Amino acid sequence: MENQMFKEASSRLDKAFDFADINQEAIERLKYPKAELTVSLPIRKDDGSLEIFTGYRVHHNDARGPTKGGVRFHPNVSMDEIKTLSFWMTIKCAVVGIPFGGAKGGVTLDPKNLSRLEIERLSRCYIDRIANFIGPDVDILAPDVYTNPMIMGWMMDEYSKITRQYSPAVVTGKPIPLGGSMGREDATGRGGYYCIQELAKKKNWQPKEMRVAIQGFGNAGQHIAQLLYEDGYKIVAISDSQGGIYSSEGFDVPTIIQVKNTTRQIQAVYCKNTVCEFVEATKITNQELLELDIELLIPAALENQITKENAAQIKAPWIVEIANGPITVEAEAILAEKNISVVPDVLANAGGVLVSYFEWVQNKTGLYWTVEQVQLRMHEIMTREFLNVYQLMESQNIDMRNAAYIQALNRYAQAVIVQGTENYFSELG
Ligand code: NAD
Repeated sequence: MENQMFKEASSRLDKAFDFADINQEAIERLKYPKAELTVSLPIRKDDGSLEIFTGYRVHHNDARGPTKGGVRFHPNVSMDEIKTLSFWMTIKCAVVGIPFGGAKGGVTLDPKNLSRLEIERLSRCYIDRIANFIGPDVDILAPDVYTNPMIMGWMMDEYSKITRQYSPAVVTGKPIPLGGSMGREDATGRGGYYCIQELAKKKNWQPKEMRVAIQGFGNAGQHIAQLLYEDGYKIVAISDSQGGIYSSEGFDVPTIIQVKNTTRQIQAVYCKNTVCEFVEATKITNQELLELDIELLIPAALENQITKENAAQIKAPWIVEIANGPITVEAEAILAEKNISVVPDVLANAGGVLVSYFEWVQNKTGLYWTVEQVQLRMHEIMTREFLNVYQLMESQNIDMRNAAYIQALNRYAQAVIVQGTENYFSELG
């Protein structure tokens, strides 16, 4: 069905609206993205043939500032998915109180089928096509699934060539020598980790008693795995698009990260001092990983992973959504009946956009921060906003997703109301 994902995502507004003190007009505006662009990308392949790809960019809402959002390269990218991701960006920026609206972009392709040169040509072509739609004060890009700092660097370079101006602030998540920020690489995982730290204090969690499973082992999944491992959490299962591994003892995460990033495969490794060897681990599917008997489940891959089909089988009492939209609305109702609590994506993965905002500020001022300064500011904001959401959840006796949406809607509505609502204009009439 056309726009099904976007409609489902924005239906969460109506639920939150019942608790938020905001104007209906303001909510209605969020159900219609501000602007949508579809482009064709003719790419010359290395063998001389031509292939035409489709790309998208959506500005969801800019009431609170220029729009901001990542670019995804994936075979499932569609306009509906990009619109939905742009909507979540609007909410996310408002949850953590940064002066941006929401956007998202993507290209429908499997990057594993393209050479590095073809990906560079495609990244530059995407910018050529959308150049009039983006800008440091209009719409700012960032990495997402299957895009990385090098691709962000190409995109920034292409935009600078087109505009004949060095424009680092149009793209975030760039390599450090091209104006990237210290601390951006692990920011998404780190933001989720700061939420878990606060939750652990509230719930009295002892890390060594916490069994954790992480679905998706890319940028977001690897960094949260590493940080939790350093604190003593037991990472008992991890997976990528090829499937996963399980060990009741917990894995040596740093070595698995190293192996995954050199061989592109997840393999279990046992290390004693400096000597490491590959060991047998139980192979599991992504589905089995979600249904493990554990304390904490972290989806860090793609949306729609926990659905009405498998929600009843989920056993983890806590889920921290590092991926965007991993739980469908129907599944969430089933999880709630089972008393499973969720730290929602718009809060748990906001560390990425937060440090993207820091990168934009640094690019605009030309003054660059140390990694300690980035992490200190990030820690302060993530902790404050997590505790604000937590307090709203308790005071209104609602779940954490609704609390996060209310926090976002209240901030967004302040920006809309000062421009006038029906009440104000009808008084004049
Ligand atoms: P990535 O490309 O670095 O990694 C994606 C990982 O997911 C890879 O390990 C891949 O093998 C795995 N994967 C793909 N399909 C899978 C499947 N069907 N089952 C299990 N694993 C699968 O991407 P990322 O940047 O880590 O993004 C992951 C999620 O985090 C996405 O939902 C993204 O929108 C969200 N996110 C990322 C950022 C960021 O700054 N990178 C910020 C906020 C949210």
